[in-house]
Amino acid sequence: MLAILIVGCGVLGLVIGSFLNVVIYRVPRGQSIVAPASACPSCASPILARDNVPVLSWLWLRGRCRHCAAPISVQYPLVELTTGALFAGAAARLGVAWDLPAFLALAAGLVALAWIDAQRLILPRAVVYPTLIAVAALLTLAAAASHQWHHLLVGVVCAAAWGLLFFLMNLASPRILGFGDVRLAPVLGLALGWLGVGDVLLGFFAANLIGAVLGIALIATRTIRRDQPVPYGVFLAAGTLLALYAGPELLAPFQGLHL
Ligand SMILES: [Zn+2]
Repeated sequence: MLAILIVGCGVLGLVIGSFLNVVIYRVPRGQSIVAPASACPSCASPILARDNVPVLSWLWLRGRCRHCAAPISVQYPLVELTTGALFAGAAARLGVAWDLPAFLALAAGLVALAWIDAQRLILPRAVVYPTLIAVAALLTLAAAASHQWHHLLVGVVCAAAWGLLFFLMNLASPRILGFGDVRLAPVLGLALGWLGVGDVLLGFFAANLIGAVLGIALIATRTIRRDQPVPYGVFLAAGTLLALYAGPELLAPFQGLHL
């Protein structure tokens, strides 16, 4: 049963990842994600259904448009594979559970946000708010179905706490921590708080550690300048996903603290 769930979620992730490619390309450009249908950015030929199969189409077209042979970015299959892997991982971690859909929605939102932030240093409201609404609605449904209202309560408290903390950090240093990160923080607090306070602390700590290590490495190798803004949303997504996927193992030594 679990194997079927993991494979099913992995395939769903590939399909959702294909949609996230549209989000990543169009939302920062202010375009609709519904219409028009996908077209080649070089020759504007519509993309046929058979050329729109996640990962496989890119492979059998050898990364080129069928009509004009313009290269198709490797980003497309990468986003699809990442989402597929994260969905399969969430299924493996949570199993057959009411809260699984909420964490699939969270993973999908974070893939799109991290990718957009890495490329453009923004976390668009048009992605943050739908992610928050989807995660909140799905966790409320999960709480109702499994009578785990206390999990939801902890999530809401952690969402408020993380949001307030980031609001204050934004006031202190708006160049390092932009307002997009403040908007995203409650989503992460809510989802990780549902799992436990320890997961929230782990996610927050991991995000900053990953950010600090990568930031120092990038400055040391002169890839970025010291005063250059960093895509903090990428670190937040990485820390959150680490807490989601490796939380039980990483928090095991602290079991006695009853977080
Ligand atoms: Zn083309």
